Amino acid sequence: MSRVVLASGNRGKLKEMQQVLADTGFELLLQTDFDIVDAEETGLSFVENALIKARHASRETGLPALADDSGLSVDALGGQPGIYSARYSGEGATDAKNNAKLLEALESCDDRRATFVCVLAYVRYAEDPLPLICQGLWRGEILRAARGENGFGYDPLFYIAELDSTSAQLSPEVKNRNSHRGRALRAFVEQWHSSISS
Ligand code: IMP
Repeated sequence: MSRVVLASGNRGKLKEMQQVLADTGFELLLQTDFDIVDAEETGLSFVENALIKARHASRETGLPALADDSGLSVDALGGQPGIYSARYSGEGATDAKNNAKLLEALESCDDRRATFVCVLAYVRYAEDPLPLICQGLWRGEILRAARGENGFGYDPLFYIAELDSTSAQLSPEVKNRNSHRGRALRAFVEQWHSSISS
């Protein structure tokens, strides 16, 4: 097993990632278990922020590091809230306030297309010039009212026509099979295997 630090303090994320990464031989450790403070996310894109977080976690621990950055990109809003998804409604943002702001922003808009994005960045050491970067996209549309009780964030507003459900109506298993994060993780496993065999 090789020890890899996950640039996150979220135990749910750790568990979910550990399952998909089982055959990479990674032993994932949370950066909060090393008492590391979060990196400042000063990038303008998901890729930049994922890399900033991975390099920071690696620098602080001396271990290889994996980071993810995700959010919702809405076509009619020029990609917003994007990297600002968690703090879309400003200081003291909550999921409910973010969803309310999104509904208001799209109130008079018929183009409801949106994409959940997840970017993963893996560095072998802090200054790694050849990081592994993977992304997963999940396309859907924003409803006019919330539906479903599962999940978090924008899940109750994110409708996937093929599944005839919002992501908040899916079980965790079905969500992981389809979601941006699940796709990015599976792409990462594939890239990881080809990077060590080439
Ligand atoms: P994080 O980078 O995983 O912390 O995600 C940033 C923000 O994007 C979250 O706070 C949510 O608002 C939104 N987000 C990311 N992934 C999801 C998802 O799977 N469902 C709903 N919202 C999400």
